[in-house]
Amino acid sequence: MGQCEQLASDLDDASVETARRRLLRWYDEEHRPLPWRTNPSPYRTVVSEFMLQQTQVATALLFFEPFVEKFPSFAALASASEEDVLRAWSGLGYYRRARMLKRAAEAIVRRHGGNLPATREELAALPGFGPYTVGAVGSIALNLVLPLVDGNVRRVLGRMMAMDQDLTTGAGRRRLWAVCERLVDPVRPGDFNQGLMELGATVCLPREPLCLVCPLYDLCRARSAGMPEDFPRAAARPALQRVREVAVALMRNGKVLVLRRGESGAFAGMWELPRLDSRELLEAGELTPERVLFDLVRIRPTAAQNIGTSRSIFTHHRIATDLYRAESADGEPIRRQRHVAHKWVSPRSLDALPASRAQRKLFELLKLS
Ligand code: SF4
Repeated sequence: MGQCEQLASDLDDASVETARRRLLRWYDEEHRPLPWRTNPSPYRTVVSEFMLQQTQVATALLFFEPFVEKFPSFAALASASEEDVLRAWSGLGYYRRARMLKRAAEAIVRRHGGNLPATREELAALPGFGPYTVGAVGSIALNLVLPLVDGNVRRVLGRMMAMDQDLTTGAGRRRLWAVCERLVDPVRPGDFNQGLMELGATVCLPREPLCLVCPLYDLCRARSAGMPEDFPRAAARPALQRVREVAVALMRNGKVLVLRRGESGAFAGMWELPRLDSRELLEAGELTPERVLFDLVRIRPTAAQNIGTSRSIFTHHRIATDLYRAESADGEPIRRQRHVAHKWVSPRSLDALPASRAQRKLFELLKLS
């Protein structure tokens, strides 16, 4: 079946009209009063959309107001130091988003005088603006008639249309975007898109969806088939791989050594204690605190003492990090791998550094030792 025939079988005009009308009415009555909705501006919409990628609303709420208070405009964000921006983002995770948000602000100031550009093409040319962000920012902040697809939208529409294909594949994604393009309300595209996402977040839940209060109840094919949870078909998740890591709090005169990551790759620009897992050793051998320090900074410590283990999950890895405390009398670090700077800081001031959540757990272990 071609894409046009597929679309025709997916949606008829009357269903499209009914879905728009009911969803907008429901959204008007039921939406949560989130700060980027009750006091909206193009800048606040952009910040909220970057924060909400891969982050729950409840978590973003903790960071949103402090962030926009510290950086109140595209111009303020563009002129801030990257370290300040990463620090304000610390704890939200996925730090690449913060770097891309700052780059987008710089481009908006440089190319558009500090105002959000008004076309789909100009939005799509901004750093960090993929199809979802273009759709979200364009429809919510500029009322452009653009669709969007996120995990909540995928679930709601996958069920409403009883799509039995894997919607995370290329063909599945194209079909879903085509359905959204057809559905999006031409008068209130931003509210329509937020309505779909809100419905997925609060009613069309992954487990035990609340179909009896859903505005799409009698349009929903998965519900009428009596098996909403069977849609959309889930992609098989890769199993989590266990990784053991060793980190070292290397002390000298009451201060601890921290290293700053380079400008690319995971945790770019963030500070961390020296740490490696066994796959990262420069030569085969046992993963020990001495090896970690030698491979990363060429320092030989005095005897190291284990002060605890911290656990975290990163992408497809379940990581157990053994933290050791060691002393070093002399010798300046010679950085040999992924780091571009180092410094000695008091354990109390670790909290002021831009650092990942996993690193913050290690900082806490050190302070308790
Ligand atoms: S009727 Fe149920 S399954 Fe269908 S969209 Fe609504 S909440 Fe989801």
